[in-house]
Amino acid sequence: MLLQAKRLPILLPLIFNFIYVQSLTSVEQVQPTEEQLSSFWLSQAQDQLGERLARTKDAIIDTRKAKNVVMLLGDGLSITTLTAARILKGQRSGARGEEAQLALERFPFAGLSKTYCVDEQTPDSACTATAYLGGVKTHSGTVGQSASGERVDSVLQWAQQAGKVTGIVTTTRLTDASPAGAYAHVRRRGEELEIARQLVEDEPGKSLHVILGGGLSKFTDERRDGKNLLTQWRETNPNGCFARSLKDLRNCSDATGSLLGVFGDSHMSYHLAASKEQPRLCEMAAAAIEKLQQKSQEDGNGYFVFIEGGRIDHGHHETRVGYALDEMLEFDAAVETVIKMTDPRETLIVATADHSHTLSMAGYAKRGTPILGMDAQQRDLNGVPYSTLNYAIGKWQSLDKEGKRESPSKTLSTTSYTPSYIHGRKGVHSGEDVAVFAMGPQAHHFGGIMEQNLLPHIIGYAACLGSGVTLCRQEKDNATDVSTFA
Ligand SMILES: [Zn+2]
Repeated sequence: MLLQAKRLPILLPLIFNFIYVQSLTSVEQVQPTEEQLSSFWLSQAQDQLGERLARTKDAIIDTRKAKNVVMLLGDGLSITTLTAARILKGQRSGARGEEAQLALERFPFAGLSKTYCVDEQTPDSACTATAYLGGVKTHSGTVGQSASGERVDSVLQWAQQAGKVTGIVTTTRLTDASPAGAYAHVRRRGEELEIARQLVEDEPGKSLHVILGGGLSKFTDERRDGKNLLTQWRETNPNGCFARSLKDLRNCSDATGSLLGVFGDSHMSYHLAASKEQPRLCEMAAAAIEKLQQKSQEDGNGYFVFIEGGRIDHGHHETRVGYALDEMLEFDAAVETVIKMTDPRETLIVATADHSHTLSMAGYAKRGTPILGMDAQQRDLNGVPYSTLNYAIGKWQSLDKEGKRESPSKTLSTTSYTPSYIHGRKGVHSGEDVAVFAMGPQAHHFGGIMEQNLLPHIIGYAACLGSGVTLCRQEKDNATDVSTFA
């Protein structure tokens, strides 16, 4: 007995360790049933909105209503991506880089958004789009529906219902998960042929005034239902202008009708690999805002536009950080364009990301170290140097034939793979919070740490959209139950 008691201190850590490892590897499968329903997320977001309004009531006097709303989304735009892209921007101009400024730095208010979805700790772009556009968290892969299958209307649809003109702009396929969150309702994001049909045939897609992005084949060649959705769009928009190149897009600026631009069969090319025929994101953003300003002048109700830099995420999935950072700088150039073209007294601009990626910026690199290259000072325990930027999980580990890590210095370039710690098929999303930036009327409500599905509720508040609490109506519209939130 005495012997066993003496052994106990040795055994205890082992027992605890066993229990701890067990608890880290077993996943709780039971989900709270209320999370399946729109009403849960809508009420929860409205409660948070109430708390937020109470918190800032006496501190801030901003009675301005947002007439226009521009929502900018950097897909996979993690905070490390932001920092590294800022340094790259500075280094491209010949400076050391760290002190450079992004357009995003001109936003007076910023906060963080919690990106988890109903069934996943680390989310995808579908459930997050449903959160930041529809105000409801849902299952991974689901667009515009709650986890139990209820239809979730987006803030873009709320804007249309309030008489605003609307648009979507993306560098991915128009039917990809993020832009689809503005107008589509499908259980699985892969149903892109159905998403394309909804864009052209259903509300709110068919009432969009501006549609710019890639993915033409989902509207034409890939279809098995005999429809040519491009022809259909032209028939229902006889005054509309259709663009397939930058030149076309410029020629469309004089047209009086709606604008549809599709620049590629699938995703648009990375900016680094694109021909001059392909418009840049900032050029699409400018064309969209010009058209929406023109259109909204007719009735004076303002506009809502969703603008996505969608291929930051793709650069990260390929673990080619040079592409990801260049796409981030393209996104930032679009932010710059939006700021220049709008009046901050009447336009709310919100810029955020859907989820993070596993890019890390590690070591103690000296000021001005080329951000896409090696850190000259640092060595691992075997004396092998390493790069400043690495991914946690990715395609390439920079190993020699014996499986030992070797210096990636000879391989690294603007378009090369970036080293990763763990060998995977591709880069993966990561689950930490992402940044939210805001300027314009009511922008101060975007602060602190927010649930991602709160964002459209704050936009709704600022621009008097939807049936929740708004600047124009301090109580929820009792005529509308939250389960039919519109
Ligand atoms: Zn992704």
